[in-house]
Amino acid sequence: MNKELDPLHVLVIDDEQDLRDGSERILVRMGFTVSKAARGDEGLKILKKEPVAIVLLDLKMPGMDGMEVLGHIKKINEEIVVIVVTGFATVETAIEAMKKGAYDFIPKPFEPDHLRIVVRRAQEKVQLLREAQKLEKERQRTLADLDAEKSRTRTIIEALPSGVVVTNTEGVVVLMNPAFLWYLGLDANLKPGKPIEEYIKDDGFCKMLRGIGEGGCKKIKEPPTYEFALAANKFLLAEGQAIVNEEKDCLGAVVILSDVTAMKALDQLKSEFVAKVSHELRSPLSTIHEQLVMVEKTPDNEQYLLPRAREKTQGLISLIGDLLDLSRIEAGHVGQDLKPVAVDELLRNIVDFITAQAQSRNQSLALELPEASLPKILADPMALESIFGNLIANAIKYTQEGGEITVKAQLVDDQIQVDVIDNGFGIEARQLDKLFDKFFRVKTDKTRYITGTGLGLSLVKGLVDKMGGTITVASKPDQGSTFTVLLPVKAESE
Ligand code: ADP
Repeated sequence: MNKELDPLHVLVIDDEQDLRDGSERILVRMGFTVSKAARGDEGLKILKKEPVAIVLLDLKMPGMDGMEVLGHIKKINEEIVVIVVTGFATVETAIEAMKKGAYDFIPKPFEPDHLRIVVRRAQEKVQLLREAQKLEKERQRTLADLDAEKSRTRTIIEALPSGVVVTNTEGVVVLMNPAFLWYLGLDANLKPGKPIEEYIKDDGFCKMLRGIGEGGCKKIKEPPTYEFALAANKFLLAEGQAIVNEEKDCLGAVVILSDVTAMKALDQLKSEFVAKVSHELRSPLSTIHEQLVMVEKTPDNEQYLLPRAREKTQGLISLIGDLLDLSRIEAGHVGQDLKPVAVDELLRNIVDFITAQAQSRNQSLALELPEASLPKILADPMALESIFGNLIANAIKYTQEGGEITVKAQLVDDQIQVDVIDNGFGIEARQLDKLFDKFFRVKTDKTRYITGTGLGLSLVKGLVDKMGGTITVASKPDQGSTFTVLLPVKAESE
């Protein structure tokens, strides 16, 4: 690239010293910097070094002739403005100089004013040229920016996880991103250019898209939405909006598609859960209601129904308690109060506390611990109590009178293993995989009359999972069950 020229720097190339000095004086007074050369080659040397923008060039000089110098100057930098000065001003020489790229012409001898006017004009020419170059550079830059912006926007649209489709006012697709094609199960190489109906066979969707255009194509605060299902249980939500330019003309419609299958499944689970809870609450409540009605009707000494009603309310209270615990676990509010816990000690306390319950059923409740104490684990002690309290209480509940229950803890590799073993009613193999589901209860002749909520084991599983542990069960009907909990030890050192 040529070096930047200084529009206020003039070079005078003339073999006449008077003329060189005279021109210098006039030009310096005008504010120019002036360099001087008596010969052509000398002048060219200066031009290569200094940012001269204007040259006053004598055509008749000894050595290199002015026309030749002019040719060299243009080769050095085409933007240098050359004013030819000569005593033999003829139309021919003027034309020839202009053809070679001279900008102006002054005949010798000249008046100072003439020189001033010609040089000033040359200076303006240099400045105009510069302005033009600057504008051109800016134009190039905005074009480049625009191009970069365009491709950036395109890249972002292509990368969006939501499907995007844009149609013009005639409902013809002008843009689709890969997610759109993927959601609709369309070929990834499919190109836009056809009416929307050719890509998507859902009347409601196409109607919505066309409706945006037909509705006067106004930008809407609450964009229309449309939900539809595709094969394989895939639910999609479409949200549309009109595309309106600054002049308020409608250009078409844009629709965003997102996959709402997971949300739908969650919704369904929620309704199932609510249905189950309502059912669980309704039957004991209606029994209590009936019993209260009976109590009202019966003589005072026959109020034996009241204890039954109380039992039922107790059942309801524990159901609600379990539900609340469960929702706390699911909301992540349980298991946050971490402390180093000695599991052996914790088990001893629980067993001591619950022994009376086992004794009331003539059952033996034994605790087997290793000789060396177990390493402490970092855990929420309340969560651990809830896990083992529930398992041991279940073992007592689901074992016949006189049965045996053993709680065994040991270190296996870097995990603490706790087994709660009973020789009770046991569970059929086909029921085992549902055992940890909410509200699941096994109903056999032996267990039918045992009260419970069916939430205890799902609570236990939720807590064990949260601690990074596992729970498994092995069971045989009429032989007994073993619930095994494995808890990682390493948590404490971390
Ligand atoms: P609940 O005891 O309130 O019914 P749980 O979630 O604690 O609820 O247990 C779910 C079901 O698993 C029980 O209804 C019972 O049928 C079965 N169960 C749990 N523990 C045992 C066990 N130790 N032996 C046999 N069955 C059990």
